[in-house]
Amino acid sequence: MSLLDDVAKLESEALERISTADSLDSLRELEFRFLGRKGPINTILKNLKDLSIDERKLVGAKANETRGRLEALLNERIATFESGGQEAAFDPTLPGTGQRQGVVHILNQVMGEICTVFHGMGFEIAHGPHVETDYYNFGALNFPPDHPARDEQDTFFVEGGRVLRTHTTPVQPRELEKRKPPIKLIMPGRTFRHEEITTRSHISFHQVDGFLVDEHISIADLKGTLVAFCRAFYGERLKYRFRPTFFPFTEPSIEIDITCFLCEGKGCQLCKYAGWLEILGSGMIHPNVLEKAGWDPEKYTGFAFGMGVERQAMLKYKINDIRLFFNSNVRFLRQFV
Ligand SMILES: [Zn+2]
Repeated sequence: MSLLDDVAKLESEALERISTADSLDSLRELEFRFLGRKGPINTILKNLKDLSIDERKLVGAKANETRGRLEALLNERIATFESGGQEAAFDPTLPGTGQRQGVVHILNQVMGEICTVFHGMGFEIAHGPHVETDYYNFGALNFPPDHPARDEQDTFFVEGGRVLRTHTTPVQPRELEKRKPPIKLIMPGRTFRHEEITTRSHISFHQVDGFLVDEHISIADLKGTLVAFCRAFYGERLKYRFRPTFFPFTEPSIEIDITCFLCEGKGCQLCKYAGWLEILGSGMIHPNVLEKAGWDPEKYTGFAFGMGVERQAMLKYKINDIRLFFNSNVRFLRQFV
């Protein structure tokens, strides 16, 4: 059948010319000539109706096949030209294009810095699961059954009555059950809360929790350890103050403020003109927490602390929007090399 031969001839001529074309312009021209609306393939397809049913099937299939092959080769060669000019023209005398090195995410850097300071004071690192049981997230930490944190307003519940951990503190009872005092741990990681996403709050953020349990541990140990951390992390010259607060898992509970390192206490935008910055929460581990984990609170005591990594990073690097940490904007992230 001569029409089929014509299509075959057309295909081999077009493939030959496309593969030897030496510029983007000539490829575009060949595209127009062979695949354009008035080109030979479209004309054949348009005239199929004049053929017998059997011919129509054969010629139609062959013409579509040819069009597919030509399109594929054209696209491939056009892409090569567009992506870097000449295909085979490697010039070893040209300067290199350079390679950009990746950077560690700012949150991982800050988390690493916090851990390094505590590691230097003999704390080991421990991790726990993101999907936590109600018991470790709340019950083992002395949250009463009707505590508002257990409300759906604050917590993501998942199947099987479990939750996305709302803090890294559940690692504490987990490790208390597994280890023997003296226990000295820091627990960095990701946490989740059912909150509105704003410049100040997010549904996911990071914490570093820590605790120490041994015989004869007193509030003086808590104070010494945490003040040493603040000085190492924020600078030697800062002043600090302790304020009473409430957490279900510590008694007494203490919040630590440091003098604003930007204005040194005079008052500025960062500290909202208070001169003080809220840095971390802490306290003496509640006897109920020790008892639930199987330790006699008459014999063993300990302190615990926790801080938000985003908050430390925002304060230290004067970042005003928590969402910047999570939207993968490389220009933001590359600043923190
Ligand atoms: Zn200030």
